[in-house]
Amino acid sequence: MPLTVLDTRPEVHEDPLDLMDEIDELKREKDAVILAHYYVDGEIQDIADFTGDSLKLARDAAATTSATIVFAGVHFMAESAKILNPAKTVLLPDLEAGCSLAESCPPDKLAAFQEELRTAGRDFVTVAYINTSAAVKSLCDWIVTSGNAREIIERLPQDKEILFVPDQHLGRYLEEVTGRKMILWPGACMVHEIFSVQDLLRAKRNNPGSVVIAHPECPRSILEHSEFIGGTEKMRKYVASLGEPTTFLVATEAAMIHPLKKAAPQHEYIPVPGIMTSSGETCACNRCPHMARNTLQKVRDCLKHGRPEIRWQPFFDKARDVLRRSLLE
Ligand code: SF4
Repeated sequence: MPLTVLDTRPEVHEDPLDLMDEIDELKREKDAVILAHYYVDGEIQDIADFTGDSLKLARDAAATTSATIVFAGVHFMAESAKILNPAKTVLLPDLEAGCSLAESCPPDKLAAFQEELRTAGRDFVTVAYINTSAAVKSLCDWIVTSGNAREIIERLPQDKEILFVPDQHLGRYLEEVTGRKMILWPGACMVHEIFSVQDLLRAKRNNPGSVVIAHPECPRSILEHSEFIGGTEKMRKYVASLGEPTTFLVATEAAMIHPLKKAAPQHEYIPVPGIMTSSGETCACNRCPHMARNTLQKVRDCLKHGRPEIRWQPFFDKARDVLRRSLLE
């Protein structure tokens, strides 16, 4: 990720309603659209033109005709938006919004491992979860999201091995649902990996009849106790399909509760807690610190100043071919 000088000044608190008005005005002035991931704060989702998971937002970014895209999400998502729609100005409210999962697979290490496999005579294709840098995407054959991973893996030739990067938990889950054995990169998301089985079981006991819905980035120990497993878009559609008021225990980033409530307000949603700290309190580990870097103020500021901007990099050309083939065709 490009280096930037950190502004350590505390953010002055501004009235959210004034900020929303200002953002609306700037959007018109700059011919901009706002794309917001389900994991950013609800108030940003509310002012966005498009909300969704990585797959939906990548497609929304590719289709937009506005001059500017503000991507309220993390760095790899804004990179994908730029790659899929290069003529647009793509702004990321905070350049430091990275992703622990993407960072667990640096491009030089992946290239070295691929070379090792080739030298050993292994015939393989590399499949990357979308939560990877564009430099990593440029080294891969297919890009998948939790929404389309199963479908893409099922159509890969049986005579090839599959190297799956970077999420070992999602990879293991996909091995189970597709029956394809894969070489798994040992990466993980800091948010999904930390859910505690003990807390989940306690929450189930305290909420009889509740239904656990979990993201496949969670470890197997959590998925084994889940009634529904799916990416964020699938989760949203699932709760909306059930008319009977139900209590859901939600094992994914806590901001996801906001779009779930909007899609199906008849239900109750309880975020699955993370681990207990030494002082006996539940930590707020189910909030992604990278997604939380997005604020209304930063959305306003990036629109106002036209930066930070995602600029075209030489390796985007190769990443574009893979992204287009995987997500748009
Ligand atoms: S929730 Fe996990 S995978 Fe998603 S952006 Fe945050 S660190 Fe990355």
